[in-house]
Amino acid sequence: MLFQIKGVCFSYGSVPVLENVTFNVQSGEMLGIVGPNGSGKSTLLRCLARVLKPRVGTIFLDRKNLADLRGREVGRCLGYVPPPGTGQAFPCTVLETILQGRRPHLTWGVGERDLVVASRALDYLGLTDLGDRQLGELSSGQRQKVFIARALAQEPVVFLLDEPTATLDVRYQLEVLALMQELARSHQRLVVVVLHDLNLAARYSDHLILLHEGRIFAAGAPEAVLSPENIRTVYGVEAVVAKNRWGLQITPVAPLNGPANGDILEGKEMAGKTLAVQA
Ligand code: ADP
Ligand code: MG
Repeated sequence: MLFQIKGVCFSYGSVPVLENVTFNVQSGEMLGIVGPNGSGKSTLLRCLARVLKPRVGTIFLDRKNLADLRGREVGRCLGYVPPPGTGQAFPCTVLETILQGRRPHLTWGVGERDLVVASRALDYLGLTDLGDRQLGELSSGQRQKVFIARALAQEPVVFLLDEPTATLDVRYQLEVLALMQELARSHQRLVVVVLHDLNLAARYSDHLILLHEGRIFAAGAPEAVLSPENIRTVYGVEAVVAKNRWGLQITPVAPLNGPANGDILEGKEMAGKTLAVQA
């Protein structure tokens, strides 16, 4: 299966956010998207998930225009995990939320297989004991796991994950990304994942896209995309990039032309003001 993104442009009102974004992702592939805050990563993912409609450009899934798919088909094909902190407006338990992922597959209500798939997803993310808890009572990391479990229960062809590991502990960061890699490689799924952690992005992605001000600045193998030059230009950070047996090791060293330590307290803006420091 092929996911083709052709010339996508998107604006919120008159403010352009994505400009002529073009790339392909194939079954079996895990594509990482990186880029600074505000570079358009979440907007791009929401276009791919058909939450937003591009102003210009077309997205094809298996040669079908995404815009023409029926809602149920979209639900079967695309499993979208929103970024952490995206609220759930109505009260729901963990299990109910995960079962929402089965909705595109249901015919006459929740069946035995739906419960099996949901409980496997719960189990995989270590949520089994939390099935009856209200979503609102969970920590942000636990809630993030619930949304990942919901996408797993959905059994989609394409996973679209927006910063899935941002609130997870280090163990689950590795578990979730290794699982996505496995789903891509062994089950021919297609994974698009937005990550802030450049080391995780380099390690788990087959290919990377580096977004900069709504455009693709670089695309290709992690080594080529995450060069010190590209990191300097796009993030404004000096970084040391080394290689070890697990892949690239990127150490961000210092911001370019950033304030020196202590300037924030001692700079001109603070002159004449008194900071109340409590013991
Ligand atoms: P990223 O995920 O890379 O941090 P986003 O895609 O969230 O970036 O945002 C890209 C740009 O679009 C930012 O300048 C952001 O302020 C703006 N933006 C995001 N969502 C909205 C919205 N709902 N309305 C208006 N502007 C938005
Ligand atoms: Mg974002």
